Amino acid sequence: MENTAYPNLQIDLKKIYQNAKNLVSFANTNGINITGVVKGSDSSKEVAKEFIKAGCMGIADSRIEKLAKLKEEGIKEDMMLLRVPMLCEVEQVVRYSEISLNSEIVVLEALNIEANNQNKIHKVILMADLGDLREGYIDEEELIKTALHIETKLDNLHMYGVGTNLGCFGAICPDESNLGKLVQISEKISALIGRKLEIVSGGATTSLPLLFDSKMPKGINHLRVGEAMLLARDLIDLWGYSMEGYHTDTFVLEAQVIEVKEKPSHPIGRIFVDAFGNTPEYEDKGIRKRALIALGKKDIGHHDSLIPKLKGITVEGSSSDHVILDVTDAVEEIHVGDIIEFELYYQAMLYLTASTSVKKVYLY
Ligand SMILES: *Cc1c(COP(=O)(O)O)cnc(C)c1O
Repeated sequence: MENTAYPNLQIDLKKIYQNAKNLVSFANTNGINITGVVKGSDSSKEVAKEFIKAGCMGIADSRIEKLAKLKEEGIKEDMMLLRVPMLCEVEQVVRYSEISLNSEIVVLEALNIEANNQNKIHKVILMADLGDLREGYIDEEELIKTALHIETKLDNLHMYGVGTNLGCFGAICPDESNLGKLVQISEKISALIGRKLEIVSGGATTSLPLLFDSKMPKGINHLRVGEAMLLARDLIDLWGYSMEGYHTDTFVLEAQVIEVKEKPSHPIGRIFVDAFGNTPEYEDKGIRKRALIALGKKDIGHHDSLIPKLKGITVEGSSSDHVILDVTDAVEEIHVGDIIEFELYYQAMLYLTASTSVKKVYLY
């Protein structure tokens, strides 16, 4: 059966292109190249094409099967694997990506053997953990020793550069001090191997405030960016940048109302746990007009990542297959069958683009 008309996700490629063009142009004038990260869009080839058109130097994703898919779909630019490889995927990593981020010598040795088998030179970026505590070398000496080992002993790997990731697990802000450290590490390696490393990759969307404030340490020449081009929302809502010329309505969800009733705002009876094992708290606001729409956590992750476009609607909660809205104060009367539109935060984009129950509509 084909997808029903709703829920659907409208993906505006012109707006995504403009976001990417704005960002790439600004970064390039500051000596920084951008690799376009498509994982938030379920690795859409349409999105990847806009990123390339806008001047991204390549495409990146965290999963090798997605890069393989994009190659099959005809994307020719360099592919970068963002998640440090599993030992069981080394063969595919060499086959389907030109560049990978790495942090383990056993994996690098395996990549080298596999690259030799496939008669290729695979480019590697070594990750430094500068405090966020996800991937990367926390010991600078170990990273530098590994770089030298790659350069002198692993003939089928190219020691392409160093990188870091911040703001993911530890929620650490990129700043002049931690990114300055990355530049220092790259300079030490360059001195040791007698040539300049090509890539010093200073992070993702969360590193952009430094760029906008002209505080990016000199020497950072590459960023891996998804959110700021796909949605451009975090820099506005979390960081307070105006982001003029950027669009946040690039991905718009349309969902259909399946029930509208006046109901108490406080559940009736003893409160235990909800469908996900949480014990929620409810404010008693008296009788309110509630609307149910036909999609749920399975499609959006969490309802906090939905932003209703119509004024006066609030998102009250969700279960696997339903989202509950309070429409009492909506500026328009809401009926069964109506379509409610939402802009998205990253999580909802991530889930919706991958949901098989949601129809994707590309606007060209
Ligand atoms: C997801 C990811 C990015 C891109 O992050 P955004 O916040 O979407 O810009 C960059 N680097 C790595 C290693 C990632 O996993």
